[in-house]
Amino acid sequence: MNIVLLGPPGAGKGTQAAGLARALRVPTISTGDMLRRAVQSGSPLGLAVKAAMDRGDLVDDGMMTELVAARLAEPDTRSGFVLDGFPRTVDQALSLDGLLQHRGDLVVVELAVPDSAIIRRLSERRVCVQCGRNADPDGGNKSSISCACGGSLRQRSDDTESVVRERLRIYECSTRPLIDFYRQRRALRAIDGTQPADLVTAEIARVIDAVFDHSTN
Ligand code: AMP
Repeated sequence: MNIVLLGPPGAGKGTQAAGLARALRVPTISTGDMLRRAVQSGSPLGLAVKAAMDRGDLVDDGMMTELVAARLAEPDTRSGFVLDGFPRTVDQALSLDGLLQHRGDLVVVELAVPDSAIIRRLSERRVCVQCGRNADPDGGNKSSISCACGGSLRQRSDDTESVVRERLRIYECSTRPLIDFYRQRRALRAIDGTQPADLVTAEIARVIDAVFDHSTN
């Protein structure tokens, strides 16, 4: 099954994508993680995207499409995938259509979370410098200083309030139009992303099951 998780930064896409991919036994494709790894390794791609990421801007559509096209060409994505962070513009969505020809339907799940909750969540978010996982998706023990893997926890450089406000502004103008784009195709399922993570997971599972049952009946 081909799934896209859509929603503003901090809506919980990364956490939900990982759980969903494990349950469906398909890979997660997180473009933010791919870019952060490229920046960390100092590769030509990393050097090209670092400044845009630090500002909270979007990376160029052509570069993003190339990155996702290369990942979708790998055989482990043949039976499906969960995309987290792509598409983020209508142009990227149109490119994705091209990449997915003859590869089955796409289900787009929107995690809806208001800006006030996003700013609070992201100012508190800490990620592991070693494994990249979020330390504390549900707001549990914020005082812990290391991840279960032993890596230390840090705030992401683009999670500061000024950069988050810029990312939300860009989400509104560049990414929100995708909601209508996919709604018009009846591919969109909206979920209240303000609920605790386990309830969001259960609702995503219910929505995906319903689509799957419908397509096999
Ligand atoms: P994320 O981890 O998904 O919040 O992404 C972190 C940053 O990576 C974003 O703020 C963008 O700078 C960049 N990025 C990730 N995915 C995309 C995309 N599909 N299009 C453009 N930029 C992206």
